[in-house]
Amino acid sequence: MLFMPTPHVIVIGGGGTGAALAYDLSLRGCRVTLFERGELTSGTTGRHHGQLHCGARYAVQDREIGRECMRESEILRRIAPASIEFNHGLFVAITEEDEQYCRTFFPACQACGIPARLLTAAQALAMEPYLNPRLRLAVQVPDGSMDAWRMALQFFASAKARGADIRNFSEVIGLKVAADGEAARSSRIIGVRIRDHRSGSEYELTADLVINATGAWSKSVVGLAGIDIAVSPSPGTMVAVKGRLTNMVISRLHPAADGDIIVPQRNLSIIGTTQRLTADPDRITVPHRDVEKMLRSAEIMVPGFKKAPFHAAWAAARPLVGEVSNSVGVRDLSRDFSLIDHGEAGGVGRFLSIIGGKATTLRGMAEITADRSCELLGIESACRTAELPLLPARSLYRGRAGVSAHPGVRAAKTGNLPAKAATESRSGERNI
Ligand SMILES: Cc1cc2nc3c(=O)[nH]c(=O)nc-3n(C[C@H](O)[C@H](O)[C@H](O)COP(=O)(O)OP(=O)(O)OC[C@H]3O[C@@H](n4cnc5c(N)ncnc54)[C@H](O)[C@@H]3O)c2cc1C
Repeated sequence: MLFMPTPHVIVIGGGGTGAALAYDLSLRGCRVTLFERGELTSGTTGRHHGQLHCGARYAVQDREIGRECMRESEILRRIAPASIEFNHGLFVAITEEDEQYCRTFFPACQACGIPARLLTAAQALAMEPYLNPRLRLAVQVPDGSMDAWRMALQFFASAKARGADIRNFSEVIGLKVAADGEAARSSRIIGVRIRDHRSGSEYELTADLVINATGAWSKSVVGLAGIDIAVSPSPGTMVAVKGRLTNMVISRLHPAADGDIIVPQRNLSIIGTTQRLTADPDRITVPHRDVEKMLRSAEIMVPGFKKAPFHAAWAAARPLVGEVSNSVGVRDLSRDFSLIDHGEAGGVGRFLSIIGGKATTLRGMAEITADRSCELLGIESACRTAELPLLPARSLYRGRAGVSAHPGVRAAKTGNLPAKAATESRSGERNI
């Protein structure tokens, strides 16, 4: 029998996308090494708004994104319930214009397969008494709140249980490019150069395939191979006040704009977000005017929001695919993701980039990227991430012997566990 070595895939970027990708590839039989320059989730993933999108926000403008969010949010609710509070969402019409918009919005939700329910003002106010009493009507949809860190950590934990080697504080500072065969006009990536920020040392590692999942930092990472791509890092500001003013996610019933979503997270209420551009996602500020604008917008949906005790304001950068020009504004750039095969797009083979999308669609983005990876590596293996429940986030920080509850991991391993640890992982999640 012919011996086929296990293909080695390097994933660059330890956000939600990299985490889901490392997990999917590990399940399909690849040896995976993931590099993250800082702590895991220290990029955009650890700082987003925390909304599990059912797709209603995108239904009018982009049906495909609407359907995708609906599909993926259902899957995440099934495989990662410990990272989700499925509290539903209300789109609220405050003005006559909002009410008019409902005529486009409601059928668009239905066309995306989003179960939307029209509510009278009285019904909505009975559910959420702090809403603006001038409310005209509301639409209930299956949105939810997501724990941004825990969701990604569940994917990391499950990837690690499948043998993925996850190295944080390890920055990719170089891509090793080799001529591809005799026709030296094309080339391919054969490995990466790493700086270990803990020890200060540098080393190299070879791979059969390298995947860039660095989101807003993608331009500089692909630049290491002399490639240019159109990515616009677009920061947005969020403001959290203390107290849970609503139980559901509240969105304004109008075309997507700044400061029109309030997400309840535990005992906080978070209003977001703004949208602008930055050349450098490492230098994002939180302008005072953004904070003021967020509080003013929240006040329209939930009067009294501004007076609630201030908790925090922060910003994170969306990795939007495309570039702003005189005719294309930042709100015009798609919220969709893009998988780039640099072998086809720029002549540098064995190198993929997965950019954009949303935290809600991380699993689906990973599936499409892993499908392409398997094609390139000659692996025949179907995606299983939509079916298998994820491990608890906590198990990431245990030794491998501590990983016990994953359906694919042999039950015999639980035999070595102290009784308490085994009970914890069977009974699900606890705060970390
Ligand atoms: C303001 C705002 C609000 C949002 N709200 C929501 C929401 O409510 N719901 C939702 O579904 N989505 C939301 N999103 C979108 C979501 O946050 C992103 O789509 C998602 O987090 C991107 O994840 P990622 O893994 O692709 O990128 P990131 O999380 O940014 O991960 C990329 C990682 O790559 C690392 N990296 C960079 N360079 C290197 C290198 N050279 N070597 C090694 N590592 C490197 C970075 O440190 C970073 O950790 C929001 C986005 C923004 C900006």
